[in-house]
Amino acid sequence: MRVSCGVCGNLLDVVYDWQRLRPPDAWRHFEQKWSRRYDPLDFSGVWRFRELLPFAPDEQIVTIGEGQTLLQAADGVGKYVGLNAGRLFLQYEGMNPSGSFKDNGMSAAFTHARMTGASRAACASTGNTSASLALYSCVTRLMKALIFVGSGKISYGKLSQALDYGALTMQIAGDFDDAMARVQEVSKELGIYLVNSVNPFRLEGQKTIMYRVLEALRWQVPDWIVVPGGNLGNSSAFGKAFMELLEIGLIDRAPRLAVINAVGANTLYQLYERRGLRWNDGCPDCDTTTTYYGELDRGQLRASTIASAIEINRPVNLLKCLRALDVCQGVVREVTDQEILDAKAQVGAGGLGCEPASAASVAGAKMLRAEGVIGADERVVCILTGHQLKDPTATVAYHTTDQQMFNDVLGSRGVKRASYANRAVAVSNDLNEIIKAIQLYS
Ligand SMILES: *Cc1c(COP(=O)(O)O)cnc(C)c1O
Repeated sequence: MRVSCGVCGNLLDVVYDWQRLRPPDAWRHFEQKWSRRYDPLDFSGVWRFRELLPFAPDEQIVTIGEGQTLLQAADGVGKYVGLNAGRLFLQYEGMNPSGSFKDNGMSAAFTHARMTGASRAACASTGNTSASLALYSCVTRLMKALIFVGSGKISYGKLSQALDYGALTMQIAGDFDDAMARVQEVSKELGIYLVNSVNPFRLEGQKTIMYRVLEALRWQVPDWIVVPGGNLGNSSAFGKAFMELLEIGLIDRAPRLAVINAVGANTLYQLYERRGLRWNDGCPDCDTTTTYYGELDRGQLRASTIASAIEINRPVNLLKCLRALDVCQGVVREVTDQEILDAKAQVGAGGLGCEPASAASVAGAKMLRAEGVIGADERVVCILTGHQLKDPTATVAYHTTDQQMFNDVLGSRGVKRASYANRAVAVSNDLNEIIKAIQLYS
């Protein structure tokens, strides 16, 4: 499958002729589908918006019920971020069948793969894309799954999914960027369908996260969307969604977009905020990027953060993300692993657990609020990209009383404190001691 332009080498983009396709001009059209939830296409949180990603005939569409997600008003976390009551919303994508937002895109990529008659699909992954691919493969039986992961770079929650769902899993001796390079070569060599976020159809599916946010807000555009940035597929998809909704006329303004990097994997932050790289009407200054990657190579700098899902130094969707930042007057920030884990603990205490990468959105919102970029009364939606159970090690290490474990997992990453830890109480196996401890701590 061809994913990039033969002339300039940049990734392909899906473009629709809206004049000819005549998409619905009122949201009412999509509300009507709620009464037809017995139809899997109208039940799916992706495909009930299929007129807004109209690349497939209905009979080719692949769905396993993805996108039944939740926009939760989160005043407790909002207070932590510094927002007034009723202003922070968490879009919880952990409710997807494989536990992350990746299912939105995988259902679209599988649909396209089916249209091309593919029998095998491959990806390189920090974990969630492979979990999603493995799940779609074993539920639909349409394609065999082939997965490349960097060694030691994948959390157990995610690896366990790939293995349990029966995917052929290759652990490459290298990191994500290496695995990504190899899978592209292998799929070209063997003619395997590639479902990485270089695949433009994945982004089509991920646009629907924004449609569901609007739907939950009764079609009112929020002031801010805050999203973690790894390979920048999600942020790119969100920008494309708003660009198209503006063109179609379903909205009259786009929200602002904040993309949050981890300090240890901050390519977008460096390029956009420090070196002034811009979309520039589709002609960004590529020298800026080339120079930066040259510096990374010479310094042998590797991405490193506890938020493994965004531990990426060469984001494949960089250009599309620049477009999204342009459409949505975007900003980019970087947050430390300490900030990520503290925010994650707050999210957990608020009731929706998430994995470390997801909490970067909340940590980023807090930072932008402190800077005054986000106002206390603005409506902010943070995307919680993945489920808490994806990475139990990070959570347990934060709450642990075992200093050795804390140091091994977190201290080595510069995390010093666990200010919001909920520590287990050690007590002897004795009724009186247990009762005493309960009275002491409650
Ligand atoms: C993939 C992933 C990300 C990063 O998303 P990109 O689209 O690659 O920027 C963030 N969080 C989680 C949980 C993910 O699985």
